[in-house]
Amino acid sequence: MAKDLSPVCKKCRREGEKLFLKGERCLSEKCALSRRGAKARSRFVRRSSAYAQQLKEKQKLRLMYGVFEGQFRRFFKLAARRGNPAIELLLLLERRLDNVIYRIGWAQSRSQARQMVRHGHVLVSGRKVDIPSFFVKADDEIELRKPDTPFAQERAELADEPKLVSWIELEGKKARISRLPAGEDVSEVPINTQLIVELYSK
Ligand code: SF4
Repeated sequence: MAKDLSPVCKKCRREGEKLFLKGERCLSEKCALSRRGAKARSRFVRRSSAYAQQLKEKQKLRLMYGVFEGQFRRFFKLAARRGNPAIELLLLLERRLDNVIYRIGWAQSRSQARQMVRHGHVLVSGRKVDIPSFFVKADDEIELRKPDTPFAQERAELADEPKLVSWIELEGKKARISRLPAGEDVSEVPINTQLIVELYSK
């Protein structure tokens, strides 16, 4: 299985923007971009042709959700078949199991969530699923496989109900997909997906 082992903060520096790939650290003064913001932004200004902007948005989205190029293209094709790709792409990415674990709060970053899924810590409607790109569907129940272990208890304590997205419900140690995410649920994602549509339409 392909694994991206490149330094995480370097990805943000390359894009000149915070991609929030490291949980709490991203919100603290320890964030590399908090310290190097001006330098990173000046680099961004240098790469501002229309094509560079399209490429940049695609890279940002891909890195935020931790998806490799080939899989990202497949997601885009699937999104285009389902309707408006600028929205459907985000909806598909949101439905990935690793993203759902991150949204519930059981992991501080999507990469940590991906590792939890790969290591077999997650059950979906009672069945172990170790594929991070698995798409959840409405009424799926998500839980940790061994809820009484110190690891699972520590994860469960991280869950932050007030911050939970509206399409996921949390009841004790179980989460439920109350409905599939819709357009309004992804309006806060700080990516201009129309630029990605333009990039892939060339
Ligand atoms: Fe990016 Fe987070 Fe690293 Fe800051 S701390 S550079 S937001 S991954």
